[in-house]
Amino acid sequence: MFSNNKGTALVTGASSGIGAIYADRLARRGYNLVLIARNRQRLDALAAHITDQTGRAVEVVAADLGEKAELGRVETVLRTDASVTLLVNNAGIGASVPTWQADVDLMERMIDINVTALTRLAYAAVPGFLGRGAGTIVNIASVVALAPEFLLNGVYAASKAYVIALTASLNAELGDKGVRVQAVLPGATKTDFWDRSGVPLSVVPAEITMRADDMVDAALAGLDLGETVTVPALLDVADWVAYEAARAALVPNLSNAVPAGRYRPAAVAA
Ligand code: NAP
Repeated sequence: MFSNNKGTALVTGASSGIGAIYADRLARRGYNLVLIARNRQRLDALAAHITDQTGRAVEVVAADLGEKAELGRVETVLRTDASVTLLVNNAGIGASVPTWQADVDLMERMIDINVTALTRLAYAAVPGFLGRGAGTIVNIASVVALAPEFLLNGVYAASKAYVIALTASLNAELGDKGVRVQAVLPGATKTDFWDRSGVPLSVVPAEITMRADDMVDAALAGLDLGETVTVPALLDVADWVAYEAARAALVPNLSNAVPAGRYRPAAVAA
């Protein structure tokens, strides 16, 4: 009924929403699982359900990824468990408060989870993947990375822009060594994230809100297609291709021995 063993997938933020669906789908695809989040009860319930449904081995590690020592326990799993073939860096928190009105301590906490933990877990996973010549990292970013002026909180958007940049860089460095890295950019997705971020999901127009299972299935289809960046809601992939082409065209022009003419004193004085 289910696929053969594909190794172990470690999924962060698996106690609800997108992460819980990744756990279900990956088990059905043949992965054993290590599930990470703070809420052990929810993780245990999900683990029992998945094992019951798929027969896969599911381990639970309750850890707060914003706490260095607890994050370190998860890093140790990635460094020492040679069965891990896939890391899903999904855990994240958001905020809806305008950037300059937000509590800077909460912003730092968001960076700890969305940026620092995601980075440290990638650094913990990659050496084993390189040694074994294979491994995949899925990093959950967000479409708000592309629209920081318009949507939610700026530190949240910036944390997700970081995820896209790190993914592109790692993929370029490691792609020919058997290690794949994918960034997934969900649009508005029906999960507890909205309530937790201070915006009821009911205020988001239904026509731009995706079911979490549809989002994850599309993201996995993007992974199967070999994409580095997957935007499940983007109807026409030509829009992304044009965006990337414009970025690539900029690259050769971004560093120069002399400033652009418009910034020379005569031009500025004129
Ligand atoms: P969610 O239902 O709130 O899930 C967030 C998950 O992260 C939960 O399992 C939560 O578990 C875990 N988590 C939060 N803080 C943690 C911490 N300190 N340590 C360990 N785990 C922690 O929201 P979601 O929508 O599924 O979010 C998943 C990812 O998708 C996030 O990175 C989010 O930024 C991204 N995303 C969501 C949307 C959306 O519209 N929903 C859109 C774009 C991107 P515990 O509370 O048990 O720790």
